[in-house]
Amino acid sequence: MAFGWIDEQAQARRRAGLVRTLRPRAADSPLLDLAGNDYLGLARHPEVTEGAARAARLWGGGSTGSRLVTGTTDLHGELERELADFCGFEAALVFSSGYAANLAAVTALAPHGSLIVSDAGNHASLIDGCRLARGTTQVVAHADPDAVRKILGTHPGPAVLVSDTVFSVDGDAAPLAELAAACRESGAGMIIDDAHGLGVLGTGGRGAPHAAELAGAPDVVATVTLSKSLGSQGGAVLGPAPVIDHLVNAARTFIFDTGLAPAATGAALAALRVLRREPERAAQARTVATALHTRLTADGHEAVRPDAAVVSVRAPSPEQAVEWAADCRAAGVAVGCFRPPSVPDGISRLRLTARADLTDEQIGHAVGVIGATRP
Ligand code: PMP
Repeated sequence: MAFGWIDEQAQARRRAGLVRTLRPRAADSPLLDLAGNDYLGLARHPEVTEGAARAARLWGGGSTGSRLVTGTTDLHGELERELADFCGFEAALVFSSGYAANLAAVTALAPHGSLIVSDAGNHASLIDGCRLARGTTQVVAHADPDAVRKILGTHPGPAVLVSDTVFSVDGDAAPLAELAAACRESGAGMIIDDAHGLGVLGTGGRGAPHAAELAGAPDVVATVTLSKSLGSQGGAVLGPAPVIDHLVNAARTFIFDTGLAPAATGAALAALRVLRREPERAAQARTVATALHTRLTADGHEAVRPDAAVVSVRAPSPEQAVEWAADCRAAGVAVGCFRPPSVPDGISRLRLTARADLTDEQIGHAVGVIGATRP
């Protein structure tokens, strides 16, 4: 049996209570959704769905090929220009996912002989980028600029720091200004993943690099996803024009991947335009996050103070986290559930998304349900 070993792994997973299953989401679900990443409530905005539909009608269901062959449409160019302009970077390149954008940035910017310094709390896509890159990776303590400075000081060749701007498990922000100072001292570049910052942090949601005055800096490259605040699908790398040109020529997840689907491109572009017109959505997502955190901690929950729109609540054990999330769902509130091996420190959590469009009443209801179902 070629795949007999899978049974052993499956049994171990069952014993540990860590089996994952897929649960289809109903289009008309009555659940209050605090589990998805639709931070600004744009995924179902009429302009966003119309943007998707119009693009699909004009360009078809798929982009038909790699961006370098037939997969580039005017829409891709428009989205790249508007995204770069909004976030304060010289240029942008759109990918079929944020995952692919991260793989591209890290692999193409960390050649053989280079050093990659990677935060211990980084997202899996950055970790995989480090694994695939030709450079050598050193994992550094979470959010520790002094540790970064020390490691960078030991390496004479090209080096790059890789970090999330907002960490997806606990929702805490990286100390970007201090990290940038450490990088500047040794001439290292920065690749920062703003998946959870775009649309939430910075003026009108321009993102964490913009807020930290790093957008447009010559040694700073940011990645984003189009699948959270922008309610669509896809990802992008933002940076100086020569870096973006380099990615077009060297990034394998750009060259060998089919271009982002027209519908997703049209939806992201429409969402970006809504966000530009309604910048208050960003501050509202942060206000909802703070309200959730304040009410949860007042009720005695152990919740991490949110720096963006992710609110993380500690659960006593992986099994109890699963039970807690299931009980919330049964009571009408969908929450995320993070547990090993997705969490590096082994601590299980409920993960709540502070959507900008949540009402006070909905926040109160969610906190009530979380309290009533606590294991
Ligand atoms: N980076 C971070 C920090 C993320 O949380 C995610 C999505 N979970 C990604 C990258 C990947 O983005 P995408 O879902 O667009 O592939």
